[in-house]
Amino acid sequence: MKKLLPLALLVSVSFALAEAPTCPYCETNEFVRELPPPTEDPVIPYKEGYICVGLGCLARCFDGTWYSSEEFGKKWEEQGRVPLLRGKGSTSFGTECPYCGSENLESTERVGICNDCLARWVDGIWYSKDEWLKIFDEDLHAIRIKRLKSYGWTDKRIARVLEGYIYIGDTKKIVLEAWGEPEDINRTTTRYGTSEQWVYGLGCYVYFENGVVTAIQD
Ligand SMILES: [Zn+2]
Ligand SMILES: [Zn+2]
Repeated sequence: MKKLLPLALLVSVSFALAEAPTCPYCETNEFVRELPPPTEDPVIPYKEGYICVGLGCLARCFDGTWYSSEEFGKKWEEQGRVPLLRGKGSTSFGTECPYCGSENLESTERVGICNDCLARWVDGIWYSKDEWLKIFDEDLHAIRIKRLKSYGWTDKRIARVLEGYIYIGDTKKIVLEAWGEPEDINRTTTRYGTSEQWVYGLGCYVYFENGVVTAIQD
């Protein structure tokens, strides 16, 4: 019995579509936006900077190193800067959340969040938390379908993957798309090939022989 660790790496590599890096906190690159060049001393000097505007995230990536919003906020304050930002000096962002009136706002030049009601400000537009969730869901769904289509799969296969069905004879890629990453993988290699047991929660197991599903137990 041996654990297969590099799976997460494999998945993130094969799913990456755009050029933006994948946010390790949201595990998507679709919400990662490039940061404009810093106008003053940057908190963390960088040549290439990104921010993730995924739900409740605001993680930053500077030259390949990621910081959660909290870690970044700490660095910001360590440098004696005014605590993150409150929108002062930006007329379109404002100093108060238009939904709840809170001044507990955080933003960069293009994206922001109200830390009290989770309203979002993205590229000059405010969205309530619910509006943002709806956009987020629609985006995620569209991204997923786009990815499945990019594999050249038939509509029928895409439909059953979206509904979470897997069958004997399916490939690992299909199982990953339909059920996500397993909690654990047990692998046995013999001279006849490799067999794997993928462990999902609640006593579900998927068995592979040479990369193809041979049994499903749930
Ligand atoms: Zn993120
Ligand atoms: Zn608010």
